[in-house]
Amino acid sequence: MTSATQPLGTPNNLEAFWMPFTANRSFKQNPRMIARAEGMFYYTPEGKPVMDGTAGLWCCNAGHARKPIIQAIQAQAEELDFAPSFQFGHPKVFAAAARIASLAPGDLDHVFFAGSGSEAADTALKIALAYWNVTGKGSKTRLIGRERGYHGVGFGGISVGGMVNNRKFFGSLLAGTDHLPHTYDREKQAFSKGEPDYGAHFADDLDRIVALHDGSTIAAVIVEPMAGSTGGLPAPKGYLKRLRELCDKHGILLIFDEVITGFGRLGYAFAAERYGVIPDMITFAKGVTSGTVPMGGVIVRKHIYDAFMNGPDNAIELFHGYTYSGHPLAAAACLATLDVYREEGLFERAREMEPAWADALMTLKGEPNVVDIRQVGIVGAIDLAPRADGVGKRAFEAMDRLFREEGLMVRTAADTIAFSPPLIITESQIGELVDKLRRGIRAVA
Ligand code: PLP
Repeated sequence: MTSATQPLGTPNNLEAFWMPFTANRSFKQNPRMIARAEGMFYYTPEGKPVMDGTAGLWCCNAGHARKPIIQAIQAQAEELDFAPSFQFGHPKVFAAAARIASLAPGDLDHVFFAGSGSEAADTALKIALAYWNVTGKGSKTRLIGRERGYHGVGFGGISVGGMVNNRKFFGSLLAGTDHLPHTYDREKQAFSKGEPDYGAHFADDLDRIVALHDGSTIAAVIVEPMAGSTGGLPAPKGYLKRLRELCDKHGILLIFDEVITGFGRLGYAFAAERYGVIPDMITFAKGVTSGTVPMGGVIVRKHIYDAFMNGPDNAIELFHGYTYSGHPLAAAACLATLDVYREEGLFERAREMEPAWADALMTLKGEPNVVDIRQVGIVGAIDLAPRADGVGKRAFEAMDRLFREEGLMVRTAADTIAFSPPLIITESQIGELVDKLRRGIRAVA
């Protein structure tokens, strides 16, 4: 395309943007466009409100257009737009690291910043490999993920990830991994509120993997405390504790990917606290800035950080980092966001709201094609029976109709409708969201 055929900035030219994780042709024929946001709502270019049922992409936990966060970003852009974090530093990034570490349990005391959840996952995996190298156990190189896991789209993340479409096209670099089974069993768990009673034993599969490969070859296990992207699968009761025990038994590092579960989604700063389990590393992103400025990172336990702090003082201890690690705008947004979370008690609010949220969702049991409903923290997921003409079509149609007819944004994965509204949602808005869903589900019966 040249400027002769296409005037610059033509607003209705949608072709140039190759949209991520999107059915491009379908979207471009009939776009779902968002122009503005405030509080619990998005607004279309025509000004129609759309309730944000997903906190954007599981990230805007404080809701939209929050003044203190906007002002902090604006002020930061004027004061210091960018500063490198390689061999230099600026005060806010140290403050942000300290604040994040103070929210994490146990001796998860040190924060390595990245720019996204994918970078956070790859960083954690690289730290795990390097940790065993610097502690004299360089044979520990295998990484263990889980079926139905999502750890972003970097090569590390898709290696340990368990979503078939994210893996099958990109094969050649995915060696040296293995996978635990996922923890979902509809027959035993359907319509559970919170963590299902059944399934702690799925962690025991780590013994089998160790028997196959030997613990001396395994560096780390990475799991999401609640598998978000494959349909909101809460960890069964006792599962994460069991995984911690088995990792300890076999000398394997345990990484929690808390890119979704961090910053209040499950009613605590981190799911690690909800479950009383301290992993060796926690990855985070999304809610750390309430989605306003890209930021991710890894919180590591003291013994991991300390293991690297050897050798000559002027030697770089870890050959890793990103241009945007600790970006000043992200650091400022992070500090302002954490202030909002604290001042408004949003983590506690999520915890208090959880029973009402769970009860409201479960009223959808019995609606047409609803075969399971899951809930944990302020996350919900509804499985619909697939249409005869293909998996995912019913949920996609529901998502599209909910946006256009009901003014509600939801996410879908195959025939699961998932939602994770901002933590500022009120009880009456929960009622509104469920009413919209009910109508949307009936419409695709
Ligand atoms: N890890 C988990 C658990 C996620 O849910 C996501 C994104 O949804 C990621 C990693 C990747 O994050 P990003 O899209 O910021 O790279």
